[in-house]
Amino acid sequence: MVMVAPDSCSCRRCGVVIEKGEHISWADGPYHLACTPLSQDWETAKAAKFYRQPATQNAKRKAWSKGDFAIVAAVAAAPVLVLLVAMLPGHSYSYFVFLRWAVFIAALGYVVQFYSDQLVRWAYGFGVIALLYNPFFPVHLTRGIWLALNAATIVAFAAGFAVLVMNERRMTKVRRV
Ligand SMILES: [Zn+2]
Repeated sequence: MVMVAPDSCSCRRCGVVIEKGEHISWADGPYHLACTPLSQDWETAKAAKFYRQPATQNAKRKAWSKGDFAIVAAVAAAPVLVLLVAMLPGHSYSYFVFLRWAVFIAALGYVVQFYSDQLVRWAYGFGVIALLYNPFFPVHLTRGIWLALNAATIVAFAAGFAVLVMNERRMTKVRRV
């Protein structure tokens, strides 16, 4: 069902804020029209042409260029590569210092990107990763725990990249309606 949001809330699919008065789709909870699982709501929204995003979200944001896409991909791929190489035996201590810097900087980059995309929970998640790997106050854990955390970090960057790309697609779709 397409309706007007009676109050500000957050989208059940993407978690981004929905502003009071914005047209939304209701399906056991509020969804952005572009996020709705109900295809008839999306069709209704397009036909009625009342479809729009809240100004706060759209006005500040530019669509990614190919270069932006490459940067976002590289920021995920670089730490993943460094972490995969770390799982091979025989690295010097300096490799792990390098690893901390690589993951720390990439995680901070994703904090900034997720925050600007208003995906705040993801921003916090990458903030935790940045703290964990920060090279200034090294966290000391056993090798077994680090291996598990390294694997989890690889998954986090892969998932984070996918979420950023999906979010970008959604925003682009929104702008073109
Ligand atoms: Zn949404």
